[in-house]
Amino acid sequence: MGLNPTLAVWAMIGSKSAVENRHQKTTRGIQLLKGRCLCGEITYTLTSELLFLYHCHCNECRRFSGSSNATNASIVGSDLTINDPNERLTKYTLQQGGRYFCSGCGSPIYSNADGGDFPSLHCGSIIDPPDKEIDANLWSSEKCPWSKIDTETQNFEKAPE
Ligand SMILES: [Zn+2]
Ligand SMILES: [Zn+2]
Repeated sequence: MGLNPTLAVWAMIGSKSAVENRHQKTTRGIQLLKGRCLCGEITYTLTSELLFLYHCHCNECRRFSGSSNATNASIVGSDLTINDPNERLTKYTLQQGGRYFCSGCGSPIYSNADGGDFPSLHCGSIIDPPDKEIDANLWSSEKCPWSKIDTETQNFEKAPE
């Protein structure tokens, strides 16, 4: 596939070749992540790894997740297969992309704010979370007062540009 990440995703991950390396490394059947919403009507599989795992403290992610921050990961969108037999996946439309959730239970599944090839998976939905550390905190400028940010992690006041 043609990889065409947004500048923001490149900035987060490092470079185009880093994205392609990670992608090639993980599409040889090594990784298979599975997820589901709360009610179980929506399930998914992801056949490549989480490219960039981050806590997002922005106002939108806080409202969408109902929590102090959303834990998201940039993923290769074409490697995400959603199984939704009763068409519960619902889009909250944004200017360019959207935020996708289950209309049966409200669980956030993924967001694609720029409509590009690298959506953000909402990682609370992963069934068996992989052994991985957070790569960064985003939008620390909008975090809740009670959220303590680990200063050893890469942190951005907004989103990387
Ligand atoms: Zn559901
Ligand atoms: Zn956010």
